[in-house]
Amino acid sequence: MLTLSDPVHRIPLVGPKYAQLLESLGVQTVQDLLLFIPRRYNDTSELTSIGSLSVDEKRTIQGTIGSIKNIRTRTRKYLTEAKVSDDTGIVDVIWFNQPFLTKTLRVGSTILLNGKLNPNRNKPQLYSPEYEVLSGGKNTHLGRIVPLYPLTEGLTSKWIRSRINFLLSECPYLLDKIPDDIPQSVRECYDLMPIGKAIRYIHFPEDKKSLRSARRSVAFIELLNIQLKLVKRKQSFQKLLAPKVKNYDADIKKFLSNLDFKPTSAQKRVIDEIVSDFSRSFPSQRLLQGDVGSGKTLVAAAISIPIIRSGYQVALMAPTAILAKQHYETLSSLLNESNISIQLITGETAKSANLPLEHYDMIVGTHALLHRQKNVFQKLGLLIVDEQHRFGVKQREKLVAQNLNEYTPHNVTMTATPIPRSIALTFFGDLDISILDEMPEGRIPTKTHLVPGNKSEDAYRWIEQMISGENDSAPEGSQVFWICPLIEDSEKLQTKAVISEYERLETEIFPNLRIDLLHGRLSDQEKDDKIKRMKNSDTDILVSTSVIEVGMDIPGANIIVIEGAERFGLAQLHQLRGRVGRRAGQKSWCFLFASEGAKPEAVKRLSYFAHQNDGLKVAQFDLDRRGPGEVYGIKQAGIPELKVARLDDLRLIKETREAAQELISA
Ligand code: ADP
Ligand code: MG
Repeated sequence: MLTLSDPVHRIPLVGPKYAQLLESLGVQTVQDLLLFIPRRYNDTSELTSIGSLSVDEKRTIQGTIGSIKNIRTRTRKYLTEAKVSDDTGIVDVIWFNQPFLTKTLRVGSTILLNGKLNPNRNKPQLYSPEYEVLSGGKNTHLGRIVPLYPLTEGLTSKWIRSRINFLLSECPYLLDKIPDDIPQSVRECYDLMPIGKAIRYIHFPEDKKSLRSARRSVAFIELLNIQLKLVKRKQSFQKLLAPKVKNYDADIKKFLSNLDFKPTSAQKRVIDEIVSDFSRSFPSQRLLQGDVGSGKTLVAAAISIPIIRSGYQVALMAPTAILAKQHYETLSSLLNESNISIQLITGETAKSANLPLEHYDMIVGTHALLHRQKNVFQKLGLLIVDEQHRFGVKQREKLVAQNLNEYTPHNVTMTATPIPRSIALTFFGDLDISILDEMPEGRIPTKTHLVPGNKSEDAYRWIEQMISGENDSAPEGSQVFWICPLIEDSEKLQTKAVISEYERLETEIFPNLRIDLLHGRLSDQEKDDKIKRMKNSDTDILVSTSVIEVGMDIPGANIIVIEGAERFGLAQLHQLRGRVGRRAGQKSWCFLFASEGAKPEAVKRLSYFAHQNDGLKVAQFDLDRRGPGEVYGIKQAGIPELKVARLDDLRLIKETREAAQELISA
């Protein structure tokens, strides 16, 4: 007898070759196969008569085979010709190059056919229809709503369907064994099918209604499991002890009134939200979302004040050394009047610290920080993580695990990736969310152009004029970020590509301009020097990998060129574009170059992006195509991809959240 945990090769007709193909789809066991969810369905359930076959659309008929034979054509190919009849008439059916059909399709058999008539003949014929012989009155592939599965080369939906059908009809007991820990009360309250029944209908629904209801039930379980995880995580944080942070609102106010610019009302609101959480007994877990350039760094500075005044340390983690350095400089100048000591820790700078590290109020660095906490963070009160996707859940947990004190630091994670409400509820349900929904005054949207291959020379010349200040749009001259195509998984190739592009620009395209080169393999010191030169306007064009993608703040730069743009995700492009146009009143431009072989689909995506400045819309577009796992890095956080549930089903998302809360508090 087959069991759920048996490998798939125990199923009849699944040999080693098929087992391997299934494995490549993540299907190893009988249970995996049962839980292999169809991607789409083909509804051929409506039967028509032979008299109503059409040349316009595929229809399904049921008839009897009157005759069938193979014919050899002059070009030595095979035609199989059959006559099939029902009460309303007879139709000629032709298949090409499938001579073996005469072995399976026998005179007198009842058969289902799905196809349309060929219009080019005096006598209409049904060409290459899909077929299924009815044996014992049962049909699997036609005349019903049939599942279509995600496939790989060498597998067909028909084959997968037949194996699942075998399991469902020959081993029905398997369905009862599928683990289902949904309590009866929840099942009744939310009108869910038992899991076994839902799985049966998800493969072979009786009708549209049973399919809808089966998919809803499976989606519910899928979402509920995620929600349970998040609610538990949230609760476990609420049991922890927070650092004792006192009220320093007056200090924050003073800090904000001493800035060179006026904070936006969104910045003030968000600072309030975050700081008022500090007075709770448990540590905050908060996500701060604000579009590129909305001014998150200022928020980071302001919320650090009460923590530090209360005698705790703040750690700020950035994804790259370049960004850590930039934050260090920005924060040092922002907090310069406040008598706060700040230290940067990257491999090279820690040595030069004046004080023992544990005496600093604020430490800025990369993830490397986490490995040093024992000697650095004696009294960590707040961890700020900048620009990470789902963002360091692991790091956060590590930090909690290694915590030296009886309390757990507050946590604020900052991101520019917009988070639609459904995503917030589904994947970030354990976090509180603050949104900076306002840009500092005077920002002008960046103009984005998708440059056709034959126009690149024009773009080069235009950029040259912009840099030299000959163009009226930039009388004071421009500075350019020049981003090279992404080469995944090979830093070596990537570096090579940037260097050769740098040389091309330097010698062929812009021999008279000051061009510099930046990539991940340079030492921190070299990177730093190059950024400095760019900041001081000593560089006209900085040719770079996407290391500058996040956070880089060089207000003088107003043009960004992105080569091989189709290789970047839209969210990433939006981040890159956000490197320019960061100053009130500054006009800025983004030029996208697609590679020669870019697929039309990818180019369409780019032209959508070129017309869309709204980060939320860009993210939504990305999300619809790539799914939340990719866009939000959710997999790393131990949350599985959704197979059935849909993110636009806000109602179901809310129901599962409610159910999870009830289950956990019960
Ligand atoms: P991001 O949210 O992308 O991290 P930053 O914090 O780097 O944005 O801020 C972008 C730029 O806007 C910086 O140069 C910063 O000094 C400036 N800035 C931040 N807040 C304001 C404000 N309220 N008014 C004007 N400029 C601001
Ligand atoms: Mg930033």
